[in-house]
Amino acid sequence: MTKQIKIGNLYIGGGNKIAIQSMLTCSLKDYEKAKNQTLQLQKAGCDIVRFTVTDQACCKNIALLKSETNVPLVADIHFDANLAILSIENGADKIRINPGNFPKDQLKKVIDCAKSYNVPVRIGVNGGSVEKELAKNCSLEQALFNSLANQVKAIENLGFYNLVLSAKSSSVQQTVNLARLLAKNFDYPLHVGVTEAGPFEQGAIFNAVGIGSLLLDGIGDTIRVSLTADPIKEVEVAKTILSATGNFGGATFVSCPKCGRCSQDLEQYATVVYNHVKGLNKDIKVAVMGCEVNGPGECSTADLGMACGKGKVAFFKKGSVYKTVDEKDALKLFLQEIDDFDVN
Ligand code: SF4
Repeated sequence: MTKQIKIGNLYIGGGNKIAIQSMLTCSLKDYEKAKNQTLQLQKAGCDIVRFTVTDQACCKNIALLKSETNVPLVADIHFDANLAILSIENGADKIRINPGNFPKDQLKKVIDCAKSYNVPVRIGVNGGSVEKELAKNCSLEQALFNSLANQVKAIENLGFYNLVLSAKSSSVQQTVNLARLLAKNFDYPLHVGVTEAGPFEQGAIFNAVGIGSLLLDGIGDTIRVSLTADPIKEVEVAKTILSATGNFGGATFVSCPKCGRCSQDLEQYATVVYNHVKGLNKDIKVAVMGCEVNGPGECSTADLGMACGKGKVAFFKKGSVYKTVDEKDALKLFLQEIDDFDVN
């Protein structure tokens, strides 16, 4: 099991709930925009919000953002050690540094500051910014691992152990290999995700395969789905990955693929019901099935289900039909049944 690390008011690692994180797509200098996006992410279920810090104006807004939101805030720092210090002094709950572009001679003063504020540091290496010297004589995977391992050692030599680690690539296979290597060699919490994974469709699938493989192996304490898209979508995909791997306590949804037995608009039913249940904080399994002949039996483990008939829709619980309603009223009534369902 990994070590437990505290980020603001949230614990990760050590068997705690796997935290979802995402990143602001706007600059923190554009404060109102940054605040609104943070609040939207928080509402969508994002546990940790990260943003890039490019200058002192960003650092100053961290304190303001912290006072107006309620989610751990992480400052992403490249190149400039002073910005890392200023971010911590202004209330960042964690900082992320990248050995590929962080000045080594400045490391001690940043670590001293993190130590005095008890702020964790993520060492995050990426395929796109690997240290060139290290990449000369070995594979990218090995170079990334060596880069991260060297920095862990340098920081541990300063007496600091409040670390989170990540090693990412745009290749799913490399990301998975690297995370497995980190899990084997370190007990710090791991941040996992496939980086630069592309727009929604490709990015969601690449991350589902990469993050999903790792979570099924018990690797990963916090996840970030990287998409060239609205970050709210990153959170939604992350929740679905957690649900698929048995790491999410909310509602689960199943629907059949439909065949010639179904004469109703099953896709519409499934879309509406799915969108209704996906945000529910309720331990319920809901099914939308295409026919009342096979539907309830095929989905007998569902707490609640609907199955289409001729102009009618049957509602079932645990495989047994308990009510039949007209097709035109079915959706509205079924959503009500879900809301009224007592999970106890
Ligand atoms: S539940 Fe009915 S409609 Fe859906 S795939 Fe099975 S047989 Fe076909």
